[in-house]
Amino acid sequence: MEILSLIYVILLGMLLGSFTGLAVVRIPLGESLWAPRSHCRHCKHTLSWYENIPLISYLALGARCRHCKSSIGFRYWIIEGSMTLLTVGAYLTLSPWTRFILWELAFILPMVLLVFLDWKKKILPDAITLPGIALGFLTHWAEGRYFSGTPWPLGSGSLILESLWGAVAGGVTLYLVAAIYQWSRGHMGMGGGDIKLGAMIGAFFGWKAVFFIFFIASVTGTVYGLIMILMKRHSRSTQLPFGSFLGAAAILYLFYGAPLLQAYLGILKMYR
Ligand SMILES: [Zn+2]
Repeated sequence: MEILSLIYVILLGMLLGSFTGLAVVRIPLGESLWAPRSHCRHCKHTLSWYENIPLISYLALGARCRHCKSSIGFRYWIIEGSMTLLTVGAYLTLSPWTRFILWELAFILPMVLLVFLDWKKKILPDAITLPGIALGFLTHWAEGRYFSGTPWPLGSGSLILESLWGAVAGGVTLYLVAAIYQWSRGHMGMGGGDIKLGAMIGAFFGWKAVFFIFFIASVTGTVYGLIMILMKRHSRSTQLPFGSFLGAAAILYLFYGAPLLQAYLGILKMYR
């Protein structure tokens, strides 16, 4: 039975990955997510079921449309692959299954979508981040109330307050960073989307975690930026998709939050 449920989870990951890949292309164009069915962007040929199997069709068709032979972007495969991996990871670390489904649909799916939308198109749509803030309150409450595993779980009021302070801390911090950046450089470094994403992450994890997630995102973003400058792929003025780093750091925190925070606090202690 264990193997069978794992297969279902892999299929769920592939399915959600396929949806995410489609959404990353269609949302920036303002197209509907539900119709028409998946088609080749080049020749408009509607994909039959065997041309539309996540992860597999891409490899089987040699990364080309079967009709017009135009190439299919590798990013679909990356999106489908990472969604499948994260889904399996969430299933293996979050139990019972209701907890897994909650985090999968309320957090991982929108967060992966935001990571790739910001990376590819530098957008973090309100249509995802604003409901995302509400989902953050709901998930944080359900997590603390039913899944925390502590003998005396926090009351609903305290849990909602944790999310509220998290959302305010996340939003206000990024607002200040954006304002200081704009004041010192004279142009926008971060947009309103980043601020709402910060509030969303704060609602999911509370105010203590949100600063730690910002810290991870800043470090990884800075290292990535420096590597790109050294490799001469970027100039100093190239804008990094900070939302992608924020989203990735939040996903990392879901899986490795406790040990990462321990290590971070340990390093702080060493320098005191
Ligand atoms: Zn085609």
